[in-house]
Amino acid sequence: MAKKATGPAQDAQSTPQSKEHNFKAETRQLLDILIHSLYTEREIFLRELISNASDALTRLDFELLTNRDVLDPDAELSIRILPDEAEGTLTILDTGIGMTAQELERNLGTIAQSGAREFLAAAQQNGQRLSDLIGQFGVGFYSAFMVAEWIRVTSRSYQKDAQAAAWFCTGADTFTIEPADKAERGTAVVIKLKEDAREFLQEHRLREILRKHSDFVPFPISIGESTEQANRQTAIWRQQPREVEQKDYHDFYQQLTLDFEEPLTYAHMAVDAPVQMYAILYIPTKPERSIFSPRKEEGLKLYARKILIQEYNKDLLPEYLNFVQGVVDSEDIPLNVSREAVQSSRLMAQLKKLVTGKVLDMIKKLAAEDAEKYAAFWKNYARYIKQGVAIEPEEPEALYPLLRFHTTDQPETWSSLDDYIARMKPDQKGIYYIIGDDDRSVLYSPHLDVVRHYGYPVLMMTDPLDAFMLVRLTRYKEIPVSNVATASLALPEGGEDKPSEDGETPAPDHAGLIERFKNILGERISDVRITTRLVDSPARLVDPEGAMNQEMQRVYRMLNREYEVPKKVLELNPRHILLTRLQALQVDDPLNELVVEQIYEDALLIEGLHPDPASMIARIQKLIEAALV
Ligand code: ADP
Ligand code: MG
Repeated sequence: MAKKATGPAQDAQSTPQSKEHNFKAETRQLLDILIHSLYTEREIFLRELISNASDALTRLDFELLTNRDVLDPDAELSIRILPDEAEGTLTILDTGIGMTAQELERNLGTIAQSGAREFLAAAQQNGQRLSDLIGQFGVGFYSAFMVAEWIRVTSRSYQKDAQAAAWFCTGADTFTIEPADKAERGTAVVIKLKEDAREFLQEHRLREILRKHSDFVPFPISIGESTEQANRQTAIWRQQPREVEQKDYHDFYQQLTLDFEEPLTYAHMAVDAPVQMYAILYIPTKPERSIFSPRKEEGLKLYARKILIQEYNKDLLPEYLNFVQGVVDSEDIPLNVSREAVQSSRLMAQLKKLVTGKVLDMIKKLAAEDAEKYAAFWKNYARYIKQGVAIEPEEPEALYPLLRFHTTDQPETWSSLDDYIARMKPDQKGIYYIIGDDDRSVLYSPHLDVVRHYGYPVLMMTDPLDAFMLVRLTRYKEIPVSNVATASLALPEGGEDKPSEDGETPAPDHAGLIERFKNILGERISDVRITTRLVDSPARLVDPEGAMNQEMQRVYRMLNREYEVPKKVLELNPRHILLTRLQALQVDDPLNELVVEQIYEDALLIEGLHPDPASMIARIQKLIEAALV
């Protein structure tokens, strides 16, 4: 191990070989900002230093591929974090590629990082809160000045003949470079912590930060004298899927989310073209994050070359898929670019397309392979998929096969649209659905009379979101998707009506019946007419020609609290016993009004349009009274 650098060389300024250098103006500026920063998440300095150590190790690793003639070729590639209570210092030690005196001067004397430069540019813009910015940019090495009184970097290059050297800076205008004593290859960054930054001496705190920011750094990291590895090290998403076991996927998921349950399903992607990327994507068993979850927001973890650049990236998936957890890692993301620049890039659009496609495939696969799990998925995630159909501007068709419905012929089980099509009758012209408030009441709907007569199955749309979805879902596999409540619903040729009994023009006695309804209901309805489409029901309400359709009415009803019952057409079934008896009543019988009102309000109720069902009770009691005479 390297001799622990415990402090600034006492006489750094006075050593003959010690040379003082001035920082470039912009570095000076950056340092000023960082030193005086009130940024609350100062812990990210550790992420930056570990990422530098990891880079140095990666570069050495690469060098070793072709050149074993380096200093300490057999030294373990690792990172050590050494808190020293007594000295109040924190040392980050790596066995990476190291730096010569010239490299120290160049790399730590000017802004090496374009991220830092962008940070400065953003910092100079009006209205930008600095503290919000620091975490977003990889401000790099200098971020350590948020917690440091002084920093000493002692390094020995991998080149055998190079001398060790030390860089020292108190955050003032200058830094010094001098020869140093370091036998082993690599770099030691010693930070004398500010008085208010002593939390970074606590091992448990360090462990927590490591786990949060650097857990999947691909080299072992240890803390203090302990030989126990503090990070998981392997970035399992960067392995080939066939090399990773299910248990690893589950462990990684649990470590990512602290979800006690296993994920419902997951997918692993390793893609080379059109962009390079790795990803592991999970669907949690439940969409709600627990309050203990370390995931405080939606979004995927975004890595560029194993280094976490964004904890919650929301740009890789459409909003309706925001329940997906996981990581995305791409070699093509430039490490030192601001979040804003990454967001808007073409690369992100490509990644989003790939990731979204994979998530949909994963759900389809679940549906195809495990009906039980898919039912569990549908129970928890139906609203997300329906939301996607309703609002996703691109290809909601891709979501249609994921939809499940209860149907009038199989009300207890879930049917896909394809299941439905398989059960369609040969003469059936469309995929039919009925809208209602719940499955049970929908089954009583008069709109089902006619399709039931033909034996057609009907999808039951009883989820409030269905109306939103149906505004988009008007066709599936070239088959129109139609509401059975539509007055003009297409039915098989010839079978539509029985013209001998009821033509377009109602028989005169029906005209009398219609008059009675019109007189009593007046303005509340737009028309009354006879229909042949009812069998078991006395009447139903349909929309007049050209009215807003039922789906849109529901959408409006859900969006505005103030809601007026739209004027409907009341269709009567003259063969129904209630109507034949009604017709037999004297026109001046007071029962007329009670019956007509009740038939109308029953129809309202069954449509889910009744504003106040309890108000019917008084009338129902009068009807009972009349029946008991
Ligand atoms: P970046 O890592 O984005 O280049 P930093 O400010 O974090 O920017 O670091 C500046 C440079 O300092 C690095 O590019 C690297 O050349 C050098 N450097 C920093 N830390 C180390 C280290 N532990 N080992 C070797 N070189 C390092
Ligand atoms: Mg860096």
